[in-house]
Amino acid sequence: MFEIMMELVNDVRNYDGTCSGTTIYKIPFEESDVVVDLDTLFEGITNSDVECNPFEIKPQAYILCGRLLIDGKEHQIKLISMNSPITILKNKFMNKKGKFKEIKEKIGKVPGLAIVLVGENPASKIYVNSKIKGCAELGFESFAHYLPENVTEEELLNVIRELNADEKVDGILVQLPLPKHIDEKKVVETIAFSKDVDGFNPINVGKLAIGEKSFISCTPYGVVKMLEEYNINPEGKNVVIIGRSNIVGKPLLQCLLNKNATITICHSKTRDIKAITKNADILIAAVGRPHFVTEDMVKDGAVVIDVGINRNEEGKLIGDVDFENVEKKASYITPVPGGVGPMTIAMLMNNVVEAAKMQNGI
Ligand code: NAP
Repeated sequence: MFEIMMELVNDVRNYDGTCSGTTIYKIPFEESDVVVDLDTLFEGITNSDVECNPFEIKPQAYILCGRLLIDGKEHQIKLISMNSPITILKNKFMNKKGKFKEIKEKIGKVPGLAIVLVGENPASKIYVNSKIKGCAELGFESFAHYLPENVTEEELLNVIRELNADEKVDGILVQLPLPKHIDEKKVVETIAFSKDVDGFNPINVGKLAIGEKSFISCTPYGVVKMLEEYNINPEGKNVVIIGRSNIVGKPLLQCLLNKNATITICHSKTRDIKAITKNADILIAAVGRPHFVTEDMVKDGAVVIDVGINRNEEGKLIGDVDFENVEKKASYITPVPGGVGPMTIAMLMNNVVEAAKMQNGI
């Protein structure tokens, strides 16, 4: 926690632009966590509430709220950062260049990810671009295959078969959803399970279910890593997941069950969801409905993870959680955007490295 905070402080010091809009990320500190001098922190800004002074806040700026002990006296403080703690976490997972160099030396090439996009879905194009960017950031090779909307199922399966056999390709990802005439199940089953960095192949799904090492779907894996990084141990906790999809809810259930959590899954047929969510020590929303989780559904001090990505009427990205009101009750809460999303990319890259190791017997 302390390390993360200092990174945030460095960001504040290096920042000299102007900003507008605000996103708040809240982390409670124990009194003993840090002892600092405010003047040193903000170079002359002595106001303990620096939210408005002298910085205006950028859309991507984050404020870290907490209590600091200064000369034995407790202060409420908000630290402004250009990076969310989650982005910092993502960078931590992705900037393992030393490790990647070592792999390159061992296998004689950098890890390679093949990405297949069918059609022109604008959201899918954005996701694919961010994955290609993630590869570039880390010095991985990426092989993008753009196929027309009317590609036949057999043509797509043949592309996957070629990628399965291609030694340059360590991981294969087919961006979902696919056009209706293509059977997604056949597609994920055709991807070799040893290159299935999305963790959707039934072999990987089954291995996860029985607690064996497998590729884990990147979004649930990102949630698990986030909890680990913040020392939030799910063991013995009441975890409530809203959503039971194959890509989020179900793998999350398996991951957290493997970590000894007591889990309840809610879905569209669940009665009185509020009565269930009110008991959650850790509440995870993967519903796909804007601001579905409201303040009255959350227990005081709960950890709230928002997987949802939705757009409001103005086209702005918002989560499944009413962040503004729920953050007052939560001990930890993830923002949208900038929360689970970046972790998903980070875990994809992590899986590509694992796949490269597996292909090369490391
Ligand atoms: P999905 O396949 O549509 O599943 C949604 C789940 O929510 C279903 O299990 C559904 O129940 C349940 N649900 C829908 N309405 C409900 C209601 N009124 N009450 C209770 N449960 C309800 O969605 P998904 O693919 O899991 O994605 C969920 C959200 O996460 C979406 O916003 C998606 O964009 C986002 N997402 C984000 C990332 C990321 O990287 N951050 C990755 C993947 C997905 P039934 O099963 O009964 O229909």
